[in-house]
Formats: sequence, structure tokens, C-alpha cells
Amino acid sequence: MNHEYNKSLVWLRRDLRLLDHTALSKATAASKHVAVAFVFDTEILKHLKDKSDRRLSFIFDSLAELGQDLKKKGSELILRFGNPAEEIPKLAQAIGADAVYVNQDYEVYAVQRDTKVAGSLRQQGIEFHSFKDQVVFSGDEVLKSDDTPYQVFTPYKKTWLKKLKPPVIQVQEVAENFIPAKDIKDQIKKLSLEDMSFRPAKYFYEFQKPGRKNAIKQLKKFAEQVDKYNDERDFPALEGTSGLSVHLRFGTLSVRECVRMAIKSRSKGHQVWLSELIWRDFYQMILMHFPHVSSKAFKRNYQDLKWPGSDKHFQAWCAGQTGFPIVDAGMRQLNETGWMHNRLRMIVASFLTKDLLVHWRKGEAYFAEKLLDFDLASNNGGWQWSASTGCDAQPYFRIFNPWLQSKKFDSEAKFIKKFLPELKSLTAKEIHQPIEGLKSYPEPIVDHQVQKLQALKLFKG
Ligand code: FAD
Repeated sequence: MNHEYNKSLVWLRRDLRLLDHTALSKATAASKHVAVAFVFDTEILKHLKDKSDRRLSFIFDSLAELGQDLKKKGSELILRFGNPAEEIPKLAQAIGADAVYVNQDYEVYAVQRDTKVAGSLRQQGIEFHSFKDQVVFSGDEVLKSDDTPYQVFTPYKKTWLKKLKPPVIQVQEVAENFIPAKDIKDQIKKLSLEDMSFRPAKYFYEFQKPGRKNAIKQLKKFAEQVDKYNDERDFPALEGTSGLSVHLRFGTLSVRECVRMAIKSRSKGHQVWLSELIWRDFYQMILMHFPHVSSKAFKRNYQDLKWPGSDKHFQAWCAGQTGFPIVDAGMRQLNETGWMHNRLRMIVASFLTKDLLVHWRKGEAYFAEKLLDFDLASNNGGWQWSASTGCDAQPYFRIFNPWLQSKKFDSEAKFIKKFLPELKSLTAKEIHQPIEGLKSYPEPIVDHQVQKLQALKLFKG
């Protein structure tokens, strides 16, 4: 077989798998031999405050499995710790690569980094190829008839569905012409979390366990229950959602695999779950076309809102000590496990912005620090939706009542009691209203009805 290149390098980032992988598929088809590398990016790691950061552990452990799989195929995974803008060009030259292949990452930092890497490589005479992989449709593939981006989800979804033809989600086959281990032995260096000044983290839920094998296990498990998704997805006491966000975030699963499962049936559960995957594409598209959202409100008329909330209230929210059990249980779930149920993400975000009147950017940053599935586009989209500053957001006058949310979505207070053991002896009825006189649990730090009026005033002003 004639190959365009003798050697190529595939640089993994948020696509930690060896199957159904666009960059690997293209590289293995075009090259005689393909080396695979990952760079622990010091530009990102230097911002991580927690030395047991769950994301880093997840990546590290997923790569350990991937490295073993590559070994079975006669090759090895190359690991680096440094600035990819320097490490990738150096590595590509050292192994004599003719080309470097990646899957596109649409975050602002990633785009700038890739531009730099591509520039350095071209100066060395090495080509740089990047492909769509982490989304089904990239930002400019689903546009309005006048070629401008959608700003409302429902018509976006309609066009997205119309464009979904089998080739879009077909498996990206990977040939196995990986570079023999002996040809890269000088490049193989042992690297531990400790070498990077980090420690291993613990995973709380089964679905957070790293690696491709766990991702597939979780996808199969969820495929058995997706029929019930629409009925169960809003209740945090149930395991009614897929728990796949972390695998989608780090690419231990491809989004195409998820869509292929979602379209196997036309059941309500399948359709609604597919819709959630479309929200994921939608927010990536918004970030690409409106990059200002990463620091400012999507709606320009809300960019200068003066959020009057206090730091004391923000700290109480972070610690799960607001005296609103549904909010506190959600925040403690986040603090203890690195994950939070979607219904709770909406409740706590609404509470921070509309009840405590704290700027949504503070909540967004707190989630970014804690969430194992943190994804800039989805997190920003979720926060701006809840704060009513985003595109197609919750209208500012529709404000969640935390007491009613609690009663409706955790009626028996099962979830609340799991994360607030100090309320175990109370009845559900007592938990769904302000609690007074408990030593171990605070009284509500604000009055919802009063704060609701303040929030309306803030937005009208
Ligand atoms: P499922 O209900 O099984 O959904 C399947 C997949 O669809 C998810 O894994 C996710 O990839 C995608 N998805 C679901 N809901 C949304 C949504 N509203 N927006 C975009 N994609 C969605 N999701 C993240 O992946 N990372 C984040 O950092 C993040 N931050 C959020 C912040 C706020 C304030 C809110 C309201 C939502 C946020 N979400 C985020 C969206 C959503 O809460 C999570 O994707 C979901 O809870 C993950 O659990 P799951 O995998 O069981 O979801």
C-alpha cells in the first residue's frame, strides 16, 4: 500500500481512546507508521488548585489503560510534561514525523495553542492536520438559511436532525500500523502524578471510573435503561441519567457511539437523550461563534448588571450551608464527588444568581474548579441559561422556587438526606420548608420571596 507519509504523530488531547477516532483513522490511513503521544500541559496544570485534582487522575488513569492497549499492539504511548507548543514540535522532529494529526478542540486557549504548534511545525517542514471529532456537527455545519448561527435551540435542533445522515456518525476505523516500540524507545519516559506534583484522586461513582473499558461498560448499562430516561432524568435520588459526561469530556467514548445508541429506537427516552447530546453541540457552536460568552453575558444588555450579592453568601453556597436543603445537598454532592445531577445544577445556579444575587461568573468558576466533567462550553451555557443572560436562556422573570423544586424533585428527601446526614431525623415535609432551631444545620440565609423581587428589580433596571 502506498502511503503519503512514512511516519506521523497523533497528539491526543480530549480524545483518549484508540477506536472510532478521526485523527487516528486519518493518520493510520495516510502513514506507514503512527506514533501516539499525550502532553500533560503545564499551562493548564499550573491553574489547578487541588493537588488531588480528579480530572488529572482521570486522564492519567485512562492513559495508563490506553498505553497498555498500545503495548499489546507492539507500540507504546509517548508521554510528555511541559508546554505542548514546545513539546510537540520537538517530539515530531525527534521521531522524524512528516505530519502531526489532532482532533479539533474549540476552546479559546486550545485554538491559540494549536495555531502556535501548527506554525512551529510548518517551519520545520512538518504538516499539521486537524479534524472534527468531539462534536457531531461543528459550529459552521448547522447554520440558518442565511448562513448565520442559530441563537435558539429548537430550530437549531430541527436542522441538526435533518442533517444527521448515516455517514456523519459512522465508525472512524483505525488501522493498526502503530510505530514499533523499538523505533521510539528513546522517547519513552516513565511519568507519575507525583512527578508532576499531584496525587491520585478517588472516584465516588462507578460511572466516573476512568478508561475506555469503563466508558463502554457505562454506555451498555445506560442503553438498557434509556427508555426510561424521560421519566427519571429529573430526580437526583434515581440513577436516571447516563453518567457519561466525563467520558464524553475526555473522549474515552466518541459522541458518535452515543448518537448511534440514541437513534436505535424512537422511544421518548431515546429521543430526549439525543436532544441532550444536541445541547452539547449547540453550546460548542455558541462558544465558537460568540467567544465573548467565555467572559461576558451572551446578551449584551445584561453585560453591565451590577450583581449585589455578598462574598459571605457566596461562601455559604460553596460550602452547602445556605439553609436550603436541596441547594446544600447539590453543593455537597459537587464538593464530595466532583459531579452534580443536572436538575441540581439548574437549582443551585438559579439560587446563586436569583436568590443570592451573586454574579454567575463566580458560580461558573467554582463549577470549573470542581466538576470532573467540566467543559467550558456546556458549563458556560448552563450558567448563562440559569442566570438568564445567555442565548435561549430561562427568562429572567421565571425564577425557581427552591422549596417547590425540592418538593417536586426529591419528594421523599432521599437525596437530600444522603448528602445532609444532619437532617436524617426530619420528615420530608419538614425538609421542604425553612428549618429552624437545629444546631447542626443553618436557618435559611435569605428569604426566597424577598430575593425574588430583588432579582426582578435587578433585571428590569
Ligand atoms: P445525561 O442526562 O445522560 O445527558 C447525556 C449527555 O448529554 C451528557 O453527558 C452531556 O454530554 C450532554 N448534556 C446533557 N445535558 C446537557 C446540557 N444542558 N448542556 C450541554 N450538554 C448536555 N455538562 C458538562 O458536560 N460539563 C459541564 O461543565 C456542565 N456544566 C453545567 C453547568 C450548569 C449550571 C448546568 C445547568 C448544566 C451543566 N452541564 C454540564 C450540563 C449537564 O448538567 C451535564 O451534562 C449532565 O448533568 C451530565 O450528566 P449525564 O452524563 O448523566 O447527563
